[in-house]
Amino acid sequence: MKVIPLYNYMLLPNSFVYIPMDDMNPALRDADPGEKVVLLAAKDMKAEPADIADKFYPIGVTGTVRDSLMQGFLFIETGYRVNIEAVEKTGSTLSVMTSARRDINDLPEEEAHERYIRLKASVTEFIRKTPANAWWSQIVASLDNIEKITVVASISMNLNPQQRYDLLAMDSLAERTKTMEKLVREMMEITELSSEANQERTREYQKAYRESAIKHQIEYLQQQLDEMHPESVSDIRQMEKRIEESGMNEQAYREAMKALNRMKQDGQNGHEYGTLYDYLDFLTTLSWKAGEAEEIDLTEAERILDEDHFGLKKIKDRIIQQIAVMNLNRKQYGTILLFVGAPGTGKTSIGQSIARALHRKYVRVSLGGVRDEADIRGHRRTYIGAMPGRIMDGIAKSGSANPVMVLDEVDKLSVSYNGDPASALLEVLDPEQNSTFTDHYMNVPYDLSKVMFICTANTVDTIPEPLLNRMEVIHFPGYTASDKIQIARNHLLPKAMESMGIGKQDLILEDEALETIVSDYTMETGVRGLKKRIDTLCRIAAVNLVKGMKEPLTVTKDNVRSYMDSKPIRHGRIVEDTRPGIVTGLAWTAAGGDILFIESSMMPGTGKVEITGQLGDVMSESVRIAVSLVKSMFPDKAELFKTNDFHIHVPDGAVKKDGPSAGITLTTALASLITGKTVSPEYGMTGEVSLRGRVMPIGGLPEKLMAAQRAGVKTVFIPEDNKDDLEDVAEEIRQKLEIVPVRYVEDVLRATGVLRKVRRKSA
Ligand code: ADP
Repeated sequence: MKVIPLYNYMLLPNSFVYIPMDDMNPALRDADPGEKVVLLAAKDMKAEPADIADKFYPIGVTGTVRDSLMQGFLFIETGYRVNIEAVEKTGSTLSVMTSARRDINDLPEEEAHERYIRLKASVTEFIRKTPANAWWSQIVASLDNIEKITVVASISMNLNPQQRYDLLAMDSLAERTKTMEKLVREMMEITELSSEANQERTREYQKAYRESAIKHQIEYLQQQLDEMHPESVSDIRQMEKRIEESGMNEQAYREAMKALNRMKQDGQNGHEYGTLYDYLDFLTTLSWKAGEAEEIDLTEAERILDEDHFGLKKIKDRIIQQIAVMNLNRKQYGTILLFVGAPGTGKTSIGQSIARALHRKYVRVSLGGVRDEADIRGHRRTYIGAMPGRIMDGIAKSGSANPVMVLDEVDKLSVSYNGDPASALLEVLDPEQNSTFTDHYMNVPYDLSKVMFICTANTVDTIPEPLLNRMEVIHFPGYTASDKIQIARNHLLPKAMESMGIGKQDLILEDEALETIVSDYTMETGVRGLKKRIDTLCRIAAVNLVKGMKEPLTVTKDNVRSYMDSKPIRHGRIVEDTRPGIVTGLAWTAAGGDILFIESSMMPGTGKVEITGQLGDVMSESVRIAVSLVKSMFPDKAELFKTNDFHIHVPDGAVKKDGPSAGITLTTALASLITGKTVSPEYGMTGEVSLRGRVMPIGGLPEKLMAAQRAGVKTVFIPEDNKDDLEDVAEEIRQKLEIVPVRYVEDVLRATGVLRKVRRKSA
C-alpha cells in the first residue's frame, strides 16, 4: 500500500482527510481514485532521524483515495487504525508493515448515536450564530459521525501534532468519543467567546468613533459661530475649555463638571450662575500640577541669600542646611521653620529670598487677627459670599502648586466660637494630611504637600503648643545701630532709589546724617522705621528731580531734621539726676527692646502699697513678692513698712506678659528706697524673682541688651539661666556692655551697693 505521511492533520478512523495537492508529498501526485493507502502521522516536519521509523507516530490509519470534491484537494476516506510495525525508505518512497489495531468497544451504539445527534445540533446552532463559520454549513449536513465532525472542526482547533495523535491512539471508543466531543464543544465556546468579545469591541469602537466625530463636528460648528459673533462666545464654553486644560484631579474635575452643568441649566440670568462662575473661575485659576523637585545649587543659593540680606548668618546657614536636606530627599519641603523676631527684622523678606534661591514662587499669607476657622479653611459654598480660605487663596495668587508660602504672624491667631483656626492650620502644615487638604469652599481636595511653608511671629508665647511643636523656632535677634547703617547703605537705599528712578547723582546721604537717622529717628530693633525714613528722602529727591532742580539732594547731619516728617524720637535714655527708689529695668516690646524706670516712693501711712502705670495681675504679684523679699532681707527696716504707704510706678510700654521680668528691678527699687541708697542709672537689669530671691530666666534678651546699650546703660544684670542666650546677642553689644549673670537678687543688691553684707536666710 502507498504510504502518505502527513504533518499535523487530524487523522481519525471512519472519517476523511482533505489534503491540498500542492503539499510537497510525492506520494500524492500519482494517487488514483479507489487506491488504498496508509496515512502516517509525522512527529516533526523537518528532522530526518537516523531511524526513519522515529519520524512517525507508531499508530496510523488506512484510507481510500476518492475523487476530489474540491479543486486542488485530494480527498481520502479513512478506514481503521493500524500499528506501524516497520518503516522503510527507498529513494523518496516509503513503505510500511502494519497490523490492524482494534478499538475497545465500550460505547453502546445508541449512546454513540445520541451523542452524535446532540453534537451536530450544537454545531449547526454554532454555525448559525457565527457568520464567520458559514462555510461549514454546507458540509455539516453530510457529516454522519462524531469523527467527521471532529475532523472538520479541527480546522479551527489549536492543537499540536502530539495532541492530535493522542486522540488517534485512544483505544477506548467511549473515551475517544467523549474527548472528540469535548474538543469540538471547546472549540465552539472559544470561537463564540472571542467573536462575541470582538463584536463587543467593534461596537464600542463604533460608538467612541461616532461620539468623537460628533464632538468634533460640534466644536467646528461652534467655532464657526464664535468667529461670526466673537462678542457672544459663551462663558460656559470658555469655562469648559479652562476646566479641560487645568489638569485638575479626578475629584475636582467631577465637581467642576457638576457645577458647569448647573450653570448650563441655570442659564445666564439664573440666580446661581454668578456664584458657580466664580467657583469655577477659582478652581481653574489654581495651578494643579507641581513640577518635580529641582536640585538646588547650594553656592548659588547662598549667594542669593547674601545678596538680599545683610548679616543673619546663623539663619542663612540653617536655610542652606534645609535646602541641602531637601536636595538629598528629593522633596519640595522640609522642617517647617518659624521665624521669630521683632517687626522689620527681615523675617518675611528672607522668605522671599528663599523662594528666589529655590526658583519657586513666593506668596505671603497674613494670619494676623484670624479668629475663624473658615479664614483658613474657607466657607462652604452654601453661604452667601462664600470665599476660599487664606491658604487656598494664597495658592491661587502664587499661580503655582509648589510656592514658598510665608504664613505671617502665626502668633496673632486667636480662638473664637467659630472654631479653632490653629487646628485648621495644623492640618495645613501636617505632611501626613496636607496632600488632601480640603478647603470648604472648593469642596475637593488639593495637594499642599509640595508647598514649602515658613511661619513668622513676633513671639512664641501666644502660639498654641501643638502648632509650636510642629515647627523649628529660629530667632531673628534684630539689628544693632551699625548693622542698620550697613543695611540702609547697601540694601534699603539702593532699592528705594532704583524703585523711584533716582540716580546716584540725585541723592547724597552723608554718613553722619545716616547715623543720626538711625540713632534719633528709629528706635526699633528691626529696620521698618529706617526704611520709611529712607523712602521719604528718596521721595523728596524724586520731587526735586521732577521740578527740574539741578542740584542733588544732599542730606547732612545738620539738615536731616528738615527732611524728617517727625521729631527725633525721645529714646529711653538713662537720666542723670536720680534718687533712691528709681532703678533702670529692661523691657521687651513687640518693636524690640526698651528701657524703663521703675519708680518707688514712700510717705507716712499705714503700710498700703499702691501701684500705678502698667498694671495687670502678674505685675501686682511681682510687686507683692518684691515687698515680701525686701521685708525679709531688711528685718531692721520692718518698721518702715508699718508706718509708711508705698507707691510703685511701672511705666507703660512694656507688654503686660513681660511684667514678671521686672521682678529684680522692683526688688532693687524698693531696697534702694528703704535703705536710701541711690542705684546708678548706668545699671540696668532684667529678671524675675522667686520668693526666696532666686533670679529666674526671661525672654527677649538680645532685644533688651540692644536697648540697654542704646540707652547708655553700662552694666546689665541678667539671670544666670539666660547665659546661653548671649550667643544670639551681637558681638558689638557684648563688647560695649558689662553683662553680669546673677543667681540671687542679693547679688544685684550687693553689686549696686544697696546691700553690704550677706544676709540671706537660706530658704
Ligand atoms: P519682618 O517680616 O521681620 O517684619 P520684613 O521682612 O518685612 O520684616 O523686612 C522689612 C524690610 O527690611 C524689608 O524691606 C527687608 O528687605 C528689609 N530688611 C530686613 N532685614 C534686612 C537685612 N538683613 N538686609 C537687608 N534688608 C533687610
